[in-house]
Amino acid sequence: MQVIERLAPLGHNCRPGINRRGFRGVTIHNTSNWSNGANALAHANLLRNGWKDVYTSWNYVVDKDYAVRCVPENEVAWCQGDGNGDGNMTTISIEICDNADGDIRKATDNAVELCADILRRNGITNVNGHLFQHNYWTGKDCPYDIRRGNPYDWGTFCNKVQQALNGGGEVVDQIIHAGSKVKFNGVFRIDDLILPCVKYPNGAVGCYATCYGKPIGVDDWLPSGPLSTCNADGSNANPNGILDTGGYWKCDKVFNVISTELPTRYTPNGVATLEADGVRFRVDCGPLLEV
Ligand SMILES: [Zn+2]
Repeated sequence: MQVIERLAPLGHNCRPGINRRGFRGVTIHNTSNWSNGANALAHANLLRNGWKDVYTSWNYVVDKDYAVRCVPENEVAWCQGDGNGDGNMTTISIEICDNADGDIRKATDNAVELCADILRRNGITNVNGHLFQHNYWTGKDCPYDIRRGNPYDWGTFCNKVQQALNGGGEVVDQIIHAGSKVKFNGVFRIDDLILPCVKYPNGAVGCYATCYGKPIGVDDWLPSGPLSTCNADGSNANPNGILDTGGYWKCDKVFNVISTELPTRYTPNGVATLEADGVRFRVDCGPLLEV
């Protein structure tokens, strides 16, 4: 994420130049501006033009690409809706863009990163008591998306900021998305085989429908390369074993999630495309464990 500065004009209502009164933390908002093009730079431009004399502003507005600083961190922005209260006077505000042509997950992840950076620079090592929803100050239904779990809920947001403060790394939340790392969680029966394999360079195992639920689709197959044969209870795993219909497999390999196709919050209904060693294939999210 790139942090850039497009400051609102000093001396106008949106940026009166009042010094912040101490630091309690960061307040999080969603713009709730779903129009195409309503990204961070568009909001920054709003404060420089049409809204410069409106008593509405923010320190930062973040989208999938940028964090744009509109009001310096040491100055008050009118974002929390509590007038001269602690929300406006002692917290730094971040607006997360939810424009339809943006990427709410990347934008929210960028806000996590920015949040952690602000807290760190203010000597905060534990998020407890230092992260606020706009809702906390006035009861407004904001951040609208996060309050609905889009792309994840408030608890997850706070955990991610804490994780970033702790030194980075993605929080494992079992919500599978592009970029997640996953393993197959369990032992699965081999229902069918394609041999010789024409679809994948290292062999294929047929739809594992009866193992746990619905098949992905009639044309979907798992590559057999990373799979080990094993007993029904997972014992005697053999990476060089010969797969056979009616036998069992398990797999300890970690796969990268390339993409997802259905709302994977509601696993096992989601479908993910996985990749390892250059082989891609589609699977249900149900048997996947995010690691
Ligand atoms: Zn808000």
